[in-house]
Amino acid sequence: SALPIFLRGKVVRGYGRGGRELNCPTANLDETAVNSFPSDAPTGVYIGFAKVNNDKVYPMAMSVGYNVHFGNDNKTVEIHILHEFENDFYDEIITAIAIKYLRPMKQFNSKEELIEAIEEDKKAARNLFNDTELSKWTQHSYFSKL
Ligand code: ADP
Ligand code: MG
Repeated sequence: SALPIFLRGKVVRGYGRGGRELNCPTANLDETAVNSFPSDAPTGVYIGFAKVNNDKVYPMAMSVGYNVHFGNDNKTVEIHILHEFENDFYDEIITAIAIKYLRPMKQFNSKEELIEAIEEDKKAARNLFNDTELSKWTQHSYFSKL
């Protein structure tokens, strides 16, 4: 299906699935933004760029999946931004462009394996800055207005 995927929405509270514990807090998008995610795009991990409100644009890794506890149609879109923020940003507006599909969702055998995979995802996101073509997306007009 078609990339890039443009997303904008409000950051809502998740179900505390241990983002911080995994050194990977994820900003969960509100339902309207989740519903704007193309239904034919696969679940899994994407990388691209994102900003909060009108702050700088940073690399991001995004996971798209279904929350089994809340029924099969409860899709979630969660964005980890590769930046150390001083504060939480619940209720703020996040703007993102997913430019590359990394991998499908996967069950890991241990927390260590999961953390390893997350670290690989984050590395791939950081490397976007080194790709001349892909880093051009930071300049896209989608990021220049809220
Ligand atoms: P929740 O289950 O509520 O989503 P998380 O543990 O996933 O909780 O933490 C997500 C929250 O952490 C985000 O909504 C945001 O307010 C905050 N946060 C702080 N730093 C980041 C970051 N680098 N990327 C994403 N969210 C971050
Ligand atoms: Mg989260």
